[in-house]
Amino acid sequence: MNILVVEDEAELCDSIAEDLTLEGYTVSTCYHGADAYNRIKNESYHLVILDLNLPGMDGLDLLQLIRIEHPEWKVLILSARSHSSDKILGLDLGANDYLTKPFSLRELEARVRCLLRRLSNQWDSSVRLGCLCLDPLLHKVTARGQPLDLTPAEVHLLAYFMLHPGQIIPAETLLTHMQKQDRSFSSRGVHTLLSALRKKLRQTLEHDPIHTKLGRGYLLEVNHAS
Ligand code: CA
Repeated sequence: MNILVVEDEAELCDSIAEDLTLEGYTVSTCYHGADAYNRIKNESYHLVILDLNLPGMDGLDLLQLIRIEHPEWKVLILSARSHSSDKILGLDLGANDYLTKPFSLRELEARVRCLLRRLSNQWDSSVRLGCLCLDPLLHKVTARGQPLDLTPAEVHLLAYFMLHPGQIIPAETLLTHMQKQDRSFSSRGVHTLLSALRKKLRQTLEHDPIHTKLGRGYLLEVNHAS
């Protein structure tokens, strides 16, 4: 589980990170609002622990950004602002929990556990097919434990194959699936996307696990050794 801690009090930020790392989480830290903005734009997390008073960008603006771009991420607000109006505003903007400073690390750990447990119940962790593993929350796929460098659209396409193992999937079905994400997708677009996906899979697996079944569609075949 990946956690981002955004807190400008460096000592507090580092002690939270150290504590949660000991609990077994993968933790990244940042001390500045603009740095947090870039990470939220470019990286993936299961949970963001977010201070509200930050240099560079307000925590509530960051919260709004997360809610627009990553509605599935959990957000725990950390703030010295103890006024209930801030708490209400934070929760209204979509924070999942709120902790007022000062707090004990034990309490933070318990709340993190609770949020991430809810998350894993919700998504029931990852989807596995042979050597491929899809993290539906982070929209990432690994092959033999190695992350594949796929675009979000490629992940969306591969996810369909992984969720329909052993089935020959007609091109029209793939088109309908892709149009649920982006209505402007054309059959040519799906064809191009599929070619790019197959090329990337071939590079990692040293063979193409998607087979063309003439006149019928496509079949993904992977085993653990693939
Ligand atoms: Ca602060």
